Amino acid sequence: NPDLSGDFGELMGWADKRRKLKVRANAETPLDTRTAVEFGAEGVGLCRTEHMFFEEERIPAVRTMILSNDETGRREALAKLLPMQRSDFEEIFHILGERPATIRLLDPPLHEFLPHTDEDIAGVAKASGLSAEELRRRAADLHESNPMLGHRGCRLGITYPEIYEMQARAIFEAAVNVSKEGKLKPVPEVMIPLVATHRELDILKKLVDETAKKVFAETGVTLDYMVGTMIELPRAALAAGEIAQAAEFFSFGTNDLTQTTLGISRDDAGKFLPAYSEKGIYEKDPFVTLDQEGVGELVKIAAERGRKTRGDIKLGICGEHGGDPASVEFCHRAGLDYVSCSPYRVPIARLAAAQAAIRGAKK
Ligand code: PEP
Ligand code: MG
Repeated sequence: NPDLSGDFGELMGWADKRRKLKVRANAETPLDTRTAVEFGAEGVGLCRTEHMFFEEERIPAVRTMILSNDETGRREALAKLLPMQRSDFEEIFHILGERPATIRLLDPPLHEFLPHTDEDIAGVAKASGLSAEELRRRAADLHESNPMLGHRGCRLGITYPEIYEMQARAIFEAAVNVSKEGKLKPVPEVMIPLVATHRELDILKKLVDETAKKVFAETGVTLDYMVGTMIELPRAALAAGEIAQAAEFFSFGTNDLTQTTLGISRDDAGKFLPAYSEKGIYEKDPFVTLDQEGVGELVKIAAERGRKTRGDIKLGICGEHGGDPASVEFCHRAGLDYVSCSPYRVPIARLAAAQAAIRGAKK
């Protein structure tokens, strides 16, 4: 457990007085969320919801949902997931108290949800009533040769809107339930991943807004909430001015933005990047420290274009770079509002943000 008492706590207190950037954490489990709060995170900047679907009692329903080709089958599977997803969010809201939570709707490459073994297939066959042969055929149809550039992120929300509808419902019902207890008023920030064009966001924001409206009408409780998007594709960075019309916040997904800007797979980069570093091609691993002339330039362009459309747009970063001191300094200079990093890097980010502010003031 973090011990932020004594000298270390005092040092952190000095850092907090100087820094301009807020520091949030990437967390989706109660343990991570608690750790983040103990380390001084001022909220959750990225709650990745896909991991919640891999639990043993959930994954058969998820597979059934993906493989059912009729809406009724999908909705039945989702109805089983709704209460579990709702309690995930209630727990996170309780731990965070007044702190904000940015909850990202589903963003796995689809293949992670496909059945891999005969046992997986048998589980889905039982739940869906479809034959094993039919399920194998459907899974083969959904197979992709390049899943990270394929059917993931908001593309899933466009093709399977019931999934995002269920998740949005779970978020708003959880927020309403927590606010009914009378102590907290969560203001959920619903985040749409992997947007490339404002048209995707327009469709999905409408779906989220309509779901919020339904939940508020059903429960008689109305809450504030925000809808925003990740900027993690070069096209989205360039189209940020249009995207900001429907986005109240941007969170830079610099893991994917690095992958797609440099054209280097984030999963295999380690195979040749060390040789590149030796030759000074990239001074530092661009997946650790923001490539400032490339990816950073896109961050600056998107921030500028987003702000031009919506002066008060909230800007953050939630890729791994959010916990890297040189990247934190870049975010400070680019005028972002917050960085979000792994819970264990929160103290580093707090210090780095203060050092960036002090260096900036000296200059
Ligand atoms: C990112 O792409 O930077 C990001 C935070 O999303 P994920 O790592 O989940 O793709
Ligand atoms: Mg991403």
